[in-house]
Amino acid sequence: MSKLYLKNANVIDVVAGQELKGSSILVEDGIIREIGGAAPADAEVLDLGGKSVMPGLFNCHTHICLAPVADPKYDETDAQVTMMALDHLKMYNETGVTYVRDVGGMNFIDIDIRDAVKAGKLCAPDLAVSGKCVTMTGGHGWSMGRECDGADECRKAAREQLKAGADWVKVMATGGVMTKGVEPGSPQLGEDELRAAIEEAHKVGAKTCTHAQGMTGIKNALRAGIDSIEHGFYMDDECFDLMKKNNTFFVPTLAAVYWIVKNGTEAGIPDYAVRKATEAMEAHKDTFQRAYKAGVKIALGTDSGTPFNPHSGTAYELVLMVEAGMTPVDALRAGTIVAAELCGVEKEMGSIEVGKKANLAVFAKSPLEDVANAGDCCMTIKNGKVIYQA
Ligand SMILES: [Zn+2]
Repeated sequence: MSKLYLKNANVIDVVAGQELKGSSILVEDGIIREIGGAAPADAEVLDLGGKSVMPGLFNCHTHICLAPVADPKYDETDAQVTMMALDHLKMYNETGVTYVRDVGGMNFIDIDIRDAVKAGKLCAPDLAVSGKCVTMTGGHGWSMGRECDGADECRKAAREQLKAGADWVKVMATGGVMTKGVEPGSPQLGEDELRAAIEEAHKVGAKTCTHAQGMTGIKNALRAGIDSIEHGFYMDDECFDLMKKNNTFFVPTLAAVYWIVKNGTEAGIPDYAVRKATEAMEAHKDTFQRAYKAGVKIALGTDSGTPFNPHSGTAYELVLMVEAGMTPVDALRAGTIVAAELCGVEKEMGSIEVGKKANLAVFAKSPLEDVANAGDCCMTIKNGKVIYQA
């Protein structure tokens, strides 16, 4: 049995919202066995010197197959995409991220990579993947997605993703920022089409998420039984009520809009994308604040892979969420235990508790005192093994 004892650790309990200073964690065979106990004689001891330990971060909205370039052309070969994705996964390892939900891959490369991680052939965060996004003909993300029209074809498109091994089915309920000629506010796949795809996923125990920015499309997806709303620029109380009733999560991806507006056309981002992001930004923040106040479950995702939105930037979403009005402890929960609940792994991950996997991120200064400190990761531990050290 392998035993790892972390001493001089300030252990952040995200559930209670407390930091246990000068504590310790005993890990046996990758599982947390004791917090605050003494070191067994046969354990490997690691002195953290008073650094803060958090549960490994989750990023619930990534595109590991996409590089965060100004004006993506999506014309790379599969080999090029694969090499980029492996580079991106390394960045998650180096920033304390131990779980990634990828919501839109290319040519099922995401699925092969997930399998390699599962088989222990690749050192990377645990991955939940969605294969190709399901979108209407010419709809948002069509160039990398599976175009389909009508309920039967959407059903088939969802079945194809599940057959290929997708853990999630991603459906496009509205237009989006990065696709030319579509508007974030306009509905795309209809309620009947969304319902067909969602039903197929739920039948086999898979979950569903939707790119949804305008209200009509969001409501279509909510009525059709979606599990998470991605982006959610424009939402009202009826949306929030439906979300709470159906246990639908909100993954706002504030970073996606932030990086596009911050860098702008002068950095080479297409003008249509900058215009759409700028138009949505204030409404998005306002929706975020109202959803938070209404008690909607909010999970962290960055939409990394969109322009200037780096795969190393997971922690910056915490900063943006706090700037938009969330308390620091709730932001940390959004990036750990609430995200774990969205991903259905809250019994094994998402907090530092006895019996859970030792997936941990170590930070020089306390993220509970200032969430920006989560941007300075000095060690990542996955399944009880140090996989990154600064
Ligand atoms: Zn996305």
